Amino acid sequence: MTKSFIFSPKGSIVIPVLGGTNYPVRRVYCVGRNYEAHALEMGNNPVKDPPFFFMKPVESIVSEGGEIAYPPETKEYHHEVELVVALKSGGISIRVADALNHVFGYAVGLDMTRRDLQTEAKKMGRPWDFAKGADQSAPISRVCSVEECGHLYNEKISLRVNGNLKQEAKLSDMIWGVAEIISYLSKYQTLQPGDLIFTGTPAGVGPVDKGDQLVAAISGVTKLTVQIN
Ligand code: MN
Repeated sequence: MTKSFIFSPKGSIVIPVLGGTNYPVRRVYCVGRNYEAHALEMGNNPVKDPPFFFMKPVESIVSEGGEIAYPPETKEYHHEVELVVALKSGGISIRVADALNHVFGYAVGLDMTRRDLQTEAKKMGRPWDFAKGADQSAPISRVCSVEECGHLYNEKISLRVNGNLKQEAKLSDMIWGVAEIISYLSKYQTLQPGDLIFTGTPAGVGPVDKGDQLVAAISGVTKLTVQIN
């Protein structure tokens, strides 16, 4: 007997891989405050805190960028450029020494944030979901496989808005490296193939307006262009 549905099931979210094939996404994990200079600009002590995580809806992904809508109910929609790790396998309590074996590849992404809602949520001790989970709030580039690009440690990550450099850092500036992040996250959640991890943003976050063009890049690896509408 064929199954019937009250409406057609939505297809799964897929990100193209550089050079062919596609990466199907399961979950989107994000690390908060992972660059010292960004923690400082947000008024936090960057140094010894363990990493903390939040999630974005899988449906907030916009594969390969393009046009994204300025969301309702915010007057302060911020860009956060981030290295994104794409897992090909997972597990629970992964050791730091094994963690990179689970990485399929890397992309550059934007953790677009309703900053005004986030500031309010922090003040009130409320969840961040609506600050972080706006529709189309996770544009992401093609994935470069480890086979193709190797592991990334010291590359430059940057974001330009209308041609002006707003964010720039080296991946080595991250407080918690990729292997440590995977290991730490896997203490709490069983990681699986298709899990993406946004690894935190460098300093220089700021507001975007309708009409702005954003270009995010990890130099020599991958690039993403987004237009705010
Ligand atoms: Mn972020």
